[in-house]
Amino acid sequence: MAPTGTAERAAFVTEQRARVIVGQRSGGRCELAVPNVCLGPQHSVHHRLKRSHGGSWAPSNLLAACGSGTTGCHGWVESHPAWAMEEGLWLQGHQDPREVSAHMRWADQRSWWFLDDEGMLRWDESEFEALVPRALPAGLTTYAPKPSR
Ligand SMILES: [Zn+2]
Repeated sequence: MAPTGTAERAAFVTEQRARVIVGQRSGGRCELAVPNVCLGPQHSVHHRLKRSHGGSWAPSNLLAACGSGTTGCHGWVESHPAWAMEEGLWLQGHQDPREVSAHMRWADQRSWWFLDDEGMLRWDESEFEALVPRALPAGLTTYAPKPSR
């Protein structure tokens, strides 16, 4: 039987297809672009909800990242989980990646975006008023923080 719902379709996205969609979305650039960390080009794909926690290859769960699990932005996210969770870059099992915006500095857009499973981005307008400075994690010079809800 053919899949009908979005979640069912997402489950049918293969790793190969997902990598193509994410590569087209990112234009080959790292979508995380953590200041003073980013290497620029996309080298790998980061799972917002880890595969070991049930995360899929649905494009909404993926971000183009520079580096590997230990270098570049990918390594930064893996080694700063609390920060990454605040940034929407690291999700927990109860969170739907389509419903949690991600803080992507991709293409110098310092903003928050909802990702879908077709490779499209939708601006999270609720974050527009959130450009309030606060204490920065070590190694960061500037970023637009997510407000407490
Ligand atoms: Zn990067």
